[in-house]
Amino acid sequence: MTEAEFIPFARPDITEAEIEAVVETMRNGWLTTGPNAAAFEQEFADFVTGGAGGVHAVAVNSATAGLHLSYEAMGIGPGDEVLVPTWTFTSTAEAVRYLGADPVFVDVDPDTLCIDLVDAEKRLTDRTKVIAPVHFAGLGVPNQALADFAATHGLRIVEDAAHALPTINEGAMIGTHGHDATVYSFYATKTMATGEGGMVLTPHEDVAKRMRTMRLHGIDRDVFDRYSSKKPSWHYDIVAPGYKDNLTDTAAAMGRVQLRRLPEMTARRAAIAARYDEAFADLPLQLPAHAPEGSTHAWHLYVVRLTAEAGLNRDAFIQEMADEGVGTSVHFIPMHLQPYWRDTYQLTPEMYPVASAEFERVVSLPIFSSMTDDQVDRVIAAVRASLD
Ligand SMILES: *Cc1c(COP(=O)(O)O)cnc(C)c1O
Repeated sequence: MTEAEFIPFARPDITEAEIEAVVETMRNGWLTTGPNAAAFEQEFADFVTGGAGGVHAVAVNSATAGLHLSYEAMGIGPGDEVLVPTWTFTSTAEAVRYLGADPVFVDVDPDTLCIDLVDAEKRLTDRTKVIAPVHFAGLGVPNQALADFAATHGLRIVEDAAHALPTINEGAMIGTHGHDATVYSFYATKTMATGEGGMVLTPHEDVAKRMRTMRLHGIDRDVFDRYSSKKPSWHYDIVAPGYKDNLTDTAAAMGRVQLRRLPEMTARRAAIAARYDEAFADLPLQLPAHAPEGSTHAWHLYVVRLTAEAGLNRDAFIQEMADEGVGTSVHFIPMHLQPYWRDTYQLTPEMYPVASAEFERVVSLPIFSSMTDDQVDRVIAAVRASLD
């Protein structure tokens, strides 16, 4: 029976502990942002900084919301430009448009598929305010080069760390380098999941305060404060037309358990990636870039690229894998090829030669921490059979 079961490309890793934590929020009656969300913020900041502190954590209901709040807190508005790699999910760019500003897409490094700072430099204008690197698949964008680039050109940094929990980048955990904002996703497929959810870390008190206000209708104090502090509970001030981006306590309760399990889940992903690396070494595949000395890879994704010797194209390979009972995906369809972005900014494949070429041959193989050894073996067998 299990032999015939389809192996999905991704699957959340949920145990009885997460289920009990969620049920407990239902029993205690606090469903929306409350004690669990506050504890989750503290525990998340402690995890990323190793207890050293120095960052403010703001829980939100998605990374998309976190990106929006981050750009908003940086003062991004109409006429401003944000450098975004074309190799990303649309969130990194769409949140710029929410504010009436323009994403400027940048080509990627052929090895890592992360933003190419040489190309980024060519796309700078006097309207460029922010650079939003994506640590693709869970591998960090070279940190010193990024920091130097931003400092040289007077840009703020909003890191899209949706894939990079946890990732050590040049000796320090992503989220602790002092960049203006680091945004995480707890979407169902990510390295830890709350269904929908996200977190923003920032070293700046004023940025954190603005994000806390804007994530909840522009109210100056969040609901939890309102019911636990000494001011009359009915009183609140609206100081801006804010949004509805707060994280529920139900999701936060699940997140707290996932966070405790994250080291174990990360180790499992790394072990699966190591098995794949070994098993695919002799195949006509370009295997994923590895972290350099002093850095680590979170292995949110395991992306292979078919080489010319493979003898079949990416779409045919995906079909063969599906026929073998294995789900795959493609990360990403570059933004410059998507109708809205292409047409709005008159983008052509020639403007992004690396991303346009690499897109044709990338495939994401299943990698998730609840994968069994048997499932890993079946994926390996399916890849070998498909490339025969
Ligand atoms: C998943 C993802 C997002 C969006 O995360 P949500 O929590 O679903 O909003 C943003 N950027 C990248 C690179 C992602 O992969």
